Amino acid sequence: MGDPERNWDDIQRSIDTCSICKCQSGVLFNEFQDSRGRPPKPPQKGCLFISEAPTPRGGFWADPVDSLRKNLFEFLNLPERESELREFTEKFSLIQTFKWPLRIDLSGLEPKRIRPLSEHTSKAHIMKEIMFMRPKAIMALGSVAVSALSWLLADSATGERFAKERIKSFKGEPLDAEIDGRPIQVWATYLPAGQGTRNKKAIFPDIRGFSRSCSEQPS
Ligand SMILES: [Zn+2]
Repeated sequence: MGDPERNWDDIQRSIDTCSICKCQSGVLFNEFQDSRGRPPKPPQKGCLFISEAPTPRGGFWADPVDSLRKNLFEFLNLPERESELREFTEKFSLIQTFKWPLRIDLSGLEPKRIRPLSEHTSKAHIMKEIMFMRPKAIMALGSVAVSALSWLLADSATGERFAKERIKSFKGEPLDAEIDGRPIQVWATYLPAGQGTRNKKAIFPDIRGFSRSCSEQPS
């Protein structure tokens, strides 16, 4: 068994049964139509993408493949095939900020409006996932993921910026941060799905820069 927070399946189970998230069903969240599309056990010390929320059909990790996965794999030069998913998971992982499909579009909101909504999921769920993975770098995809990270980087200049500023002011730059006493590089860009799809040209160099940096850093 071991420490529950060190077991990936237990972390995912605690998300599925979270009473605080369940209270938001019908308010902030919708139910899933199909699979929950929870992320498989990730590589440790890999590079982590954090996106916004799963789609009602499960999203990134479920079939049918969503636009986030299609676009991200295109940027990473991984055409959509079974073997390319394995290639992705050797180096990267992806978790969602909100663990359930969103009922409302938060993408245009100011950071201070999103922040209260992202506090619970950051502290109760994402922190455990990050502690398990110990990623060497994190790329926040979209304003919701930036908001979630702002809670985990709270007492730092980067955390302050993530709490108050919009993505365009730090987009595509590696920023120094610390999570749970460990130094970590964090990046941010727009979400390459939904509303953000129209920014594909602006997102592409950021994802490629992050991927290159991940390849260059020692594990
Ligand atoms: Zn919860």
